[in-house]
Amino acid sequence: SCSSKSEGGMDQKASKSTHLNQEVERKIDSLLSLMTLEEKVGQMNQYNGFWDLTGPAPKEGDAAKKYDHLKSGLVGSMLNVTGVEEVRSVQKIAVEETRLGIPLIIGFDVIHGFRTISPIPLAESASWDLEAIKNSAAMAAKEAAASGINWTFAPMVDISRDARWGRVMEGAGEDPYLGSKIAVARVEGFQGSDLASPYTVAACAKHFAGYGFAEGGRDYNTVDVGTSTLYNTILPPFKAAKEAGVRTFMNAFNELNGIPATADRFLQRELLKDQWNFDGFVVSDWGSMIEMQAHGYARDRKHAAELAANAGSDMDMESYAYVNELVDLVKQGKVQESDLDDSVRRILRVKFELGLFEDPYKYLNEEREDAIVGSKEINDAALDMARKSIVLLKNKNNLLPLKRKGQKVALIGPFVSDKTSPLGSWRLAAEDGTAISLAEGMASYEDNTVRVSEGVKLSNGSNSFPMEVKVNSRDRSGFDEAVKVAKEADVVVMALGEDGFQSGEGRSRAELGLPGLQQELLEEVYKVNKNVVLVLHNGRPLAIEWADQHIPAIVEAWQLGTQSGHAIAQVLYGDYNPSGKLPVSFPRSVGQMPLYYNYKNTGRPTLPGEGVVFWSHYIDEENTPLYPFGHGLSYTEFTYDTLKVNKHTDGVQLTLTVKNNGEVVGKEVVQVYIRDHFATVTRPVKELKAFELVSLAPGEERQLQFNLTKNELGYYLNDGSFILEPGDFTVFVGGSSDTVLEETFTIEALDE
Ligand code: BGC
Repeated sequence: SCSSKSEGGMDQKASKSTHLNQEVERKIDSLLSLMTLEEKVGQMNQYNGFWDLTGPAPKEGDAAKKYDHLKSGLVGSMLNVTGVEEVRSVQKIAVEETRLGIPLIIGFDVIHGFRTISPIPLAESASWDLEAIKNSAAMAAKEAAASGINWTFAPMVDISRDARWGRVMEGAGEDPYLGSKIAVARVEGFQGSDLASPYTVAACAKHFAGYGFAEGGRDYNTVDVGTSTLYNTILPPFKAAKEAGVRTFMNAFNELNGIPATADRFLQRELLKDQWNFDGFVVSDWGSMIEMQAHGYARDRKHAAELAANAGSDMDMESYAYVNELVDLVKQGKVQESDLDDSVRRILRVKFELGLFEDPYKYLNEEREDAIVGSKEINDAALDMARKSIVLLKNKNNLLPLKRKGQKVALIGPFVSDKTSPLGSWRLAAEDGTAISLAEGMASYEDNTVRVSEGVKLSNGSNSFPMEVKVNSRDRSGFDEAVKVAKEADVVVMALGEDGFQSGEGRSRAELGLPGLQQELLEEVYKVNKNVVLVLHNGRPLAIEWADQHIPAIVEAWQLGTQSGHAIAQVLYGDYNPSGKLPVSFPRSVGQMPLYYNYKNTGRPTLPGEGVVFWSHYIDEENTPLYPFGHGLSYTEFTYDTLKVNKHTDGVQLTLTVKNNGEVVGKEVVQVYIRDHFATVTRPVKELKAFELVSLAPGEERQLQFNLTKNELGYYLNDGSFILEPGDFTVFVGGSSDTVLEETFTIEALDE
């Protein structure tokens, strides 16, 4: 045959759910037979706890009924209720006061840590260290579960190619292969091997689907993508999460090709539940049912509930749509009771798996809470993860690492003493000011004189909820002092970047430079001292071309969480040799967006021959990124050699050698990319298909081996079927997507 189209892909029906626990299913049967229609709807209703529990209860509107609904069994889940005491107070009502006593499942956005904050997910992804990422999620789960949480709304597995979108901080970057591996690591970390353990939480793959492709990078905006991008780029991390056993999915605010994701029957019923055979449940995004009115899709709340239920959204987060409308809709025959039964079964199944029926208070133990929350174990893991997340972008003349003794260091910039921004966005359970600042981290290296000068304030005044950051574009009063301190120093460490609330949900940016007066300060300082180390604090790729052209050393420190300052100081002083690699391309300018390494060629990739004057480019900017996907330096240097390709019956095997050519131990992420030269649906110029993180002693050389099979060499056609087409391929290898070795090979039809 000339092609091998198969069952291996998106169209595959996984073997039927033989893994379901029959005893649990029988218990669900008998519970369902006892439940009234109202109680079924109640299981499908999720309420936010926050304001009700901490402030005076609202007197009017839907929220005023929450408490009564909880007492009468009309609430199946709550979010934003935290701490053993608070969770117990609501769980007790569900278990002891409602007719059937079905426990609540308590959800929370445990996005990167709970009380102890680990690096933002984008930063963790820069480690390419799947074990560390998994461990970080496991620590977050442990701390959250000790506070009574059963379920995290993470991982966000949305691929995004647009740094303007504020939620790039919450994902794994631009690549579906890396994104899938990280999705699996996070799911496995959160859920562990035993969901019933009081140290694990159920995970949630979100936002299904397409949320990261918002037009113009503007959050919540329209998503309009073709099937090739949907199947090959957007869906793979979701499928990987499903295969790793993720127990819940969250749908999305956006519409996808004209249909709001919340009412997308194809995505939720046909693909996820039917073809992929997912047996957990789908929660809506916050109020996303009600938002379908503004989308121009639902006439009113009742219509929204009907559309969402029929499309397979099992639980309503804060739209008040199901709890108010579903009973009627079933009575009118617009929604089938059997569909409600299916949703309730899924929700109860996860509650059983969490052990909540066996003991609804098993997560509620004050002693455990005291011992675990903020423990040394969790802080040590956060520090470890923070160091692994740092990316050394540039290091001319080995300005870094800093000398341990006898160097006069100036620490300048709005982030030097900031103890909040390094926590990043999405850290609802952590208090402001709990991060180790850079100045504090540097202070533990006391043999150097370090002088601190903020130089400029990033924002004016306090940033109140919803934490809109008011950027200072006027007050230069700190400039003179900073320049003076810089002049007297041997080396200047400048901490510049974005406030912790300049990225995250609803924080899209139209510019990608250093906000406010920071660029100006950087240039002023550089005029008096050329030995500048720029340490970036940010939640997205920044366009810092001037800095790249002038500043000798640049360290990408993202938002590293509670242990931020220690991690950065250890890298600056060479106690930790950086090994991070960018999970996203860094642009030269915002006009390049969307920018990604795995783009497709045009018919005019370069200036063509005689007579043709136009090619695919900007007249005022390069096509290339400032720093490519996969880029990251080390204090040592690695070289690559002898790439060989051996054909096998099920694909190809590659061998290559990598060597540490420097004087210190270092880790390298060896990256393998392919290109499929001709295809029925065109393929990108390069696609990551394998990687390995290796640690090498000085002078050490290692031979590595990679197998590329149909899974890696194939792709999805526009109908969602997975195919491996024979033909010519190139394999590329190196320490970034700017690879150093390549070999070409031909794939004949493979034995099936
Ligand atoms: C976000 C979700 C989040 C939910 C609950 C929404 O605004 O889009 O990702 O899980 O809020 O906090």
